[in-house]
Amino acid sequence: MSGVYSRTWYDDTCVSPSEQSTQQIQKNFEFCIIGGGLAGLSCAYHLAKMGASVVLLEKSAIGAGASGRNGGFCSAGWAANTSQINRMIGKNNCIEFEELGLEGLSWMRQRAFSPQYSKAEAVNGVISLGLTKNLPEKSEIITQKNLEQFVRGPRYRWGIIDKSAFHFHPLNFLRIFAGEVKKIGVKIIDYVGDVQIDTANVRTSSGTDFRCNRIIWATGGYGLESNSVLKNLVLPIQTFICVTSPMGDILDEYIPTNMALGDDRRAGNYFRRLSDGRLLWGMGVSAMRQKSSQQIRLMGWKNIKAHFPNMVQDMEKDRIVIDYAWSGLMAYASHFLPVVGQISDRELTLCGFGGHGMNTAPIVGKKMAMFLNGNLKSLDLFSIIPKRKTFGLLGRLAAEIEYRRLSFLDMVNERY
Ligand SMILES: Cc1cc2nc3c(=O)[nH]c(=O)nc-3n(C[C@H](O)[C@H](O)[C@H](O)COP(=O)(O)OP(=O)(O)OC[C@H]3O[C@@H](n4cnc5c(N)ncnc54)[C@H](O)[C@@H]3O)c2cc1C
Repeated sequence: MSGVYSRTWYDDTCVSPSEQSTQQIQKNFEFCIIGGGLAGLSCAYHLAKMGASVVLLEKSAIGAGASGRNGGFCSAGWAANTSQINRMIGKNNCIEFEELGLEGLSWMRQRAFSPQYSKAEAVNGVISLGLTKNLPEKSEIITQKNLEQFVRGPRYRWGIIDKSAFHFHPLNFLRIFAGEVKKIGVKIIDYVGDVQIDTANVRTSSGTDFRCNRIIWATGGYGLESNSVLKNLVLPIQTFICVTSPMGDILDEYIPTNMALGDDRRAGNYFRRLSDGRLLWGMGVSAMRQKSSQQIRLMGWKNIKAHFPNMVQDMEKDRIVIDYAWSGLMAYASHFLPVVGQISDRELTLCGFGGHGMNTAPIVGKKMAMFLNGNLKSLDLFSIIPKRKTFGLLGRLAAEIEYRRLSFLDMVNERY
């Protein structure tokens, strides 16, 4: 079975979805949002708050895509780093962009740490770990010796704590948020299968037609086949997660912190302790073939062992195994920046948040809602990002080769 759809630890520990009030199904809406991830839900929420009538159609379950099966890290920034953004849109726009990322983080923090979201289990702090000798020029750096109070793996040479970042249960967050979205009047319809669009209607696979003035594609990396324009602008890229069985006190010995941690590789490893004593380990990307759960399990074990050899010996003694292994699809444009804005008279895209969507998708969803509500300047920052073709299979092949090249460079940097 492909890991992209396999069951996750989040699925087994999540709150029930909230019920929609059973009013008669209305068929005319101002806006139809396609995709029930964080981007689509945020756009729907903000539009409804502005008084619009909105229907949100989700192919599967709310949060079945990347938003409900990711690493659960939320920090400032974007999938592209500052120098990439600078190069693409210039220094002043880059500053504005970074501020927007921060605004997204603060929007998420406000919710995640509120009593209503307690089941999202938000925990403060993310530590960046250095595998290379190059110490960043930052005063708050933790040296290798002091790092031991947070993590005891022989390869980590330094660390930096980001106190504004946090980690959380993304599926619970999404379900609680979907409850809020329904409460303010958005009609959410899940399990609609694939949708079709003609000049007047949006039709679900069960044959229900909706009339909408504007259609917003918030389909992430999961729905690119349904939209021929989007398909040429973003690529679906896989990434992988494993979760162990409960580890008893082994984690206190090797990872004695409740903060989340991630290394400084380009598509690095990241890990965190979960509320029931398990370890979540995220790693790698692939633009090509999907991996089975068993392949992801093996890859996860190998990765954990490479960074925590002694811990894995203890795990083997205590018969700790990998209970869950899954992958998910991220949507990446070739420049790593989101693809947001008009793609035809009636259709807009809200897509391409890559591996950094937990702060960016909700805040860009809000900007999209402001744009649709008549504030046409609110998407100016995105209109200057070029819409580049990704060239399908060729583009995926190029992405795979580039990932392997960067992984090789990481390996060389860590050694010398
Ligand atoms: C394994 C993994 C780990 C990650 N870790 C992190 C992390 O720790 N921190 C972070 O910030 N980001 C992380 N990301 C990235 C982040 O999850 C995404 O950027 C973000 O969730 C994108 O949100 P979205 O709403 O655009 O897309 P999605 O959440 O993928 O939502 C799109 C939705 O659209 C639906 N859909 C698709 N096509 C159709 C259609 N035709 N009709 C109806 N519905 C449709 C899908 O079913 C899906 O529910 C990770 C991603 C993955 C896959």
